[in-house]
Amino acid sequence: MIVMKFGGTSVESAQAIERVAAIVKANAARHPVVVVSAMGKTTNKLLAIAQSAIEGRREEFIRQLHDLRDFHSREARQVVPLERRAELDRVLDDHFQELTELVKGIAVLGELTPRSIDAISSYGERLSSYVVSLAFNHFGLPAVHVDSRKVIVTDRRHTQAAPIFTETYKRLADTIPALAARQVVVMGGFIGSTEDGVTSTLGRGGSDFTASIVGAGIGAEEIQIWTDVDGMLTADPTVLPGGHRVKTISFAEAAELAYFGAKVLHPATVIPAVEHNIPVLILNSRRPDVPGTRIVSQAVACRNAVKSIACKKKVTLVYVYSTRMLMAHGFLRRIFEVFDRHETAVDMVATSEVSVSLTIDNTSRIAQIREDLTEFSEVVVEEGHATVCLVGDNIRYTPGVAARVFGALRNVNVALISQGASLLNLGFVVAEKDLRAAVEALHSEFFTELDPEVFD
Ligand code: ADP
Ligand code: ASP
Ligand code: MG
Repeated sequence: MIVMKFGGTSVESAQAIERVAAIVKANAARHPVVVVSAMGKTTNKLLAIAQSAIEGRREEFIRQLHDLRDFHSREARQVVPLERRAELDRVLDDHFQELTELVKGIAVLGELTPRSIDAISSYGERLSSYVVSLAFNHFGLPAVHVDSRKVIVTDRRHTQAAPIFTETYKRLADTIPALAARQVVVMGGFIGSTEDGVTSTLGRGGSDFTASIVGAGIGAEEIQIWTDVDGMLTADPTVLPGGHRVKTISFAEAAELAYFGAKVLHPATVIPAVEHNIPVLILNSRRPDVPGTRIVSQAVACRNAVKSIACKKKVTLVYVYSTRMLMAHGFLRRIFEVFDRHETAVDMVATSEVSVSLTIDNTSRIAQIREDLTEFSEVVVEEGHATVCLVGDNIRYTPGVAARVFGALRNVNVALISQGASLLNLGFVVAEKDLRAAVEALHSEFFTELDPEVFD
């Protein structure tokens, strides 16, 4: 068995779904279990509908719901066999009727909880998985739809739920292999349900994570992540186009890149794959012949120190200065307790004797964080930054990497530097306006000569 995950752009239209069917068909002998994201930008659209509801803009959310239904209906009808169109219409009617009730309820109550956000955003994957399973049958690929909420069990941290692995693996092993022996199984990514059956989601971009959970649960031989780029590239193409494909990379490197902003992979994806030692491939559904990126436990030897440069935009820098005596102990503990209490992850940190600078990308609780920190320190918060992170197993063994980095960045103002925490990354913070220049300079410094074993 293999898991094949197709992201939003890979199932964004009838044409895209037809391409997916062809790719899956070519792999039919390997008993694929297919995990799909919501079609195109559906998740964003569902969240926008929730926002219109909570703001009481009734005409707008009714129109948005109509548009979303029309979009699904228009694309799906082109890939669903004639004799199953009535069934398709019924399923679309049922889902959109339920969704409309939910959205109206939110507008009336004027309250949008994480739990109701999950209820609404789950419709994207519920619809896409159903449509794709019908489409496969239309294209001569016997397929069966499985509701992921019946097998992916999570905790109750709605909008960011974590899987409960033992129960999830048990349910996956009990149901999926028997089905996959005879048909292609199609499931929605991103969604699950709590132990008491309430719909939950794994967080934005979570379908990659679903794919690896499913892969681990069924003992798949490979997990394929099909997306809209040729694989992991040497730079984020939205910041610097024209990067090279990385042919192979370790789990540790891929996890670090994902954590520091390489959106092509959800950061949690590698966890189940590492534990069960299942290779993960990143592939392009528009160019299925490109061999993509292979993520494995042991990276092959590489002459380049750096494998790729990850970036994160919209980063906020927080400077915390101690107002107490110099060298008072307990300062760091108190700072991190504040971030912990407000469930805000800190990405990069640098410390001096009396001050700490750190970065966060979730600023939803920044007002309370600032208030709590002000009890024992002075605080300065600066928005508009970006983190840049060079990742490579060899960084720790290669002398002179730091000198090359700062040589390349001689014209860029660097606000914070962090190296060594994980041994395989070197990260720093720049103003967002300098991001492109910084990445461009680093890319030409580190990727002008390429080891042909590792880069394309
Ligand atoms: P999907 O919908 O298939 O899950 P995503 O949009 O989540 O696709 O991820 C793919 C995108 O990740 C690419 O289109 C690209 O813009 C972005 N990306 C960021 N960093 C990298 C990188 N280093 N290599 C490849 N893609 C990257
Ligand atoms: N559809 C979800 C999102 O847009 C999950 C995913 O695509 O991975 O975040
Ligand atoms: Mg994604």
